[in-house]
Amino acid sequence: MKRKLLRLMHTLGAGHVARFIWRRKLLVLAYHGFLPEEESGDMAPLWGIHVPAKKFESQLAYLRKYYAPVSLETALSCLEGGRPLPDNAVVITMDDGYRSVRDIAFPLLLKYEIPATVFLTTGFLDGEAPLWVDRLACAVVQTDRKELAVNIEGVKLEYDLNGASARQACVRDLKTRLKTLAHDKLEEMLAAVEVDLGGDNGRRAKLPEPLFPLDWDQVREMRQSGLMTFGAHTRTHVILSGCTEEVSGREIRHSRLRLEQELQTPCRYFAYPNGGAADHNEISRRVLAADGFRCAFLTVPGLVTRGDDLLTLRRVSVLNWMDTAAFALQISLVLPALRRQLEQTRPSKGKVPHVAGCA
Ligand SMILES: [Zn+2]
Repeated sequence: MKRKLLRLMHTLGAGHVARFIWRRKLLVLAYHGFLPEEESGDMAPLWGIHVPAKKFESQLAYLRKYYAPVSLETALSCLEGGRPLPDNAVVITMDDGYRSVRDIAFPLLLKYEIPATVFLTTGFLDGEAPLWVDRLACAVVQTDRKELAVNIEGVKLEYDLNGASARQACVRDLKTRLKTLAHDKLEEMLAAVEVDLGGDNGRRAKLPEPLFPLDWDQVREMRQSGLMTFGAHTRTHVILSGCTEEVSGREIRHSRLRLEQELQTPCRYFAYPNGGAADHNEISRRVLAADGFRCAFLTVPGLVTRGDDLLTLRRVSVLNWMDTAAFALQISLVLPALRRQLEQTRPSKGKVPHVAGCA
């Protein structure tokens, strides 16, 4: 999407018109990590879902000016209890549990007095392993190799690794393909890619600082502020639609129990890893319901209305590249609608990959 076109649409007020039309619905934003500064160059493939501090601050100011930020608890009480939500109500959520939530986002949320809910991948916080998507991106970005050959389910793929944009394209394509595999197969393929690119076994990937996890003391500190609440996001960031009921149950329950153990309070909020339409199924929904979860979020773009299924709620993702115009058009659903239109009118380009999902 051309940035000039987005700026023109923003200037003409497309976002404001759409915001007025949708004012009675609830907007839930999905963030992930944050960066102290804008980043470009060789490391760019790592930062797609990490929003620079300055951009995040201007987004909070925009939300304060044009929207009504509420806590997830308030929003749920309204949705469940019939009490009306304020016009243009917005809930902020953040997935995965990056340390930058504490170091960068939290002070800004305090400054603007905007609440947020953070969904934690508990194995990531417990130091078991980095998120698999970060392992993949780090392996591709940090290798000395100039090419990569992979065989995924009989499909032979060759990637050029010369330059940042080629590496970015490789990460994007491999991520999309690996996400379709069952979890065991995904782990196996990822380990093979890491070995091929000169890594060890992936468990010791050299993560740059913005990809470090929170620790539990930082989670407790944020919770004590009264502004932040926490939910579960599985133990290993497994894509639940590729799991058996037993594995789904283990992943969901483990993350809930770890949160309850560390925070000494019931955990009733959940976000599906990756969160696309194909990343959850009836099994995961059943496990969540049986485990007592009150709500669960996707990253499928859309707004929430009273009567929606609380275990498959839509959210709108905010990504690194979005400037003020793109942000305003994204959260008013103008940009997702344009994307859908583009996909339908350009069938020869193939299906646009789901880019809004978590890491
Ligand atoms: Zn995630």
